[in-house]
Amino acid sequence: MRPTSLVSRERAVTLVVCGHAQVIAEDESVVYRSQHLRLALPVILQVPAYVELRPIVKHTVVRRVLFCRDNWRCAYCGRDGGPRDLTVDHVKPLSRGGEHAWDNVVAACRRCNHRKGSRLPYEAGMYPRNVPKRPDMVQVAWAGRLTHPLQRQYVAQWHKVPEAAL
Ligand SMILES: [Zn+2]
Repeated sequence: MRPTSLVSRERAVTLVVCGHAQVIAEDESVVYRSQHLRLALPVILQVPAYVELRPIVKHTVVRRVLFCRDNWRCAYCGRDGGPRDLTVDHVKPLSRGGEHAWDNVVAACRRCNHRKGSRLPYEAGMYPRNVPKRPDMVQVAWAGRLTHPLQRQYVAQWHKVPEAAL
């Protein structure tokens, strides 16, 4: 099954306890206990399509994940940048009604961000090289958000990339 989302531990436990998810892999070294329940930490779940997951990366824009999504390059000039040179640019500026959301943010070097200012792409004549969208699981993994070794293994196998690359 294709890995699609990363949810919080709490959400994962709730999904299992409520019977909305089937456990594919669990971590026996972390056990949740209550009077009537003993549950090893679920790390990979199979969830039917109708269940709402509320994935961690759905709404929150995380700088590091964003830069990974954009391959640590400026979306306008294509120059390689590090965390010191890259900034978060809103394609449609916040001051013009743009949202702080995955489909409106790109990595931009300081120079391009400054040059574009609060103008729209067509006003500035500056268009991002790729249409911004929500990052996929490999990009999230690259950003170090997949903390559990079983999750890294699963994602690496699915995408046929070496685990060391995640
Ligand atoms: Zn640039």
